[in-house]
Amino acid sequence: MNEHQRHVKAREDILKNGAPEKRIFVHMEDLEAKKKRQDEVKLERERRNARMDVLKDAKTPWFCPECDKVMKKRLDDKMYRLHNHCFDCQVKFENKLRIDGKYEEWEEKKVLNNQLSYIKDQINSIDDWKDETSKPLEVFDQVGVQDIELHTEKWSQNKEKVEEMSNEALEELNKMKEDVEEKLNSFEI
Ligand SMILES: [Zn+2]
Repeated sequence: MNEHQRHVKAREDILKNGAPEKRIFVHMEDLEAKKKRQDEVKLERERRNARMDVLKDAKTPWFCPECDKVMKKRLDDKMYRLHNHCFDCQVKFENKLRIDGKYEEWEEKKVLNNQLSYIKDQINSIDDWKDETSKPLEVFDQVGVQDIELHTEKWSQNKEKVEEMSNEALEELNKMKEDVEEKLNSFEI
């Protein structure tokens, strides 16, 4: 049912027996507050990403810190962000690993580190979601006493569900995190 249909129904209820559904108003306010919070979170994330981009761009120097060569290729830029030296230095580094028979180990470690940062991101986003969802409702305008009780009951059930789902996911992710960390610790490069 959309807002318009809700209003139509409320008018019909008033005409029929003079008692429109009281909770319409709460529902609207609730959605508005939720939307506002989502917008704020989105804005903050955009601001944070913009700051990160600025830092990343500022971080690439003109010369490779390892061989002092001018870093002019697009690949140099990418390599510097990943490995803190130019593309040629990275080729040399990987060749040396191959000669020493350590390349596969190094590559596996790289994959594990990527997994680890992905898992950490997931854990953070679930924590954020849990925080967001567990915030109490602030708007109770125009609600009768009975309605508030109903609303609170519904809300606490929802909160329990969120708690249960996020704890399950977090448990799983933490297990994965431990596994990856354990594998990483077994390497020595
Ligand atoms: Zn270099």
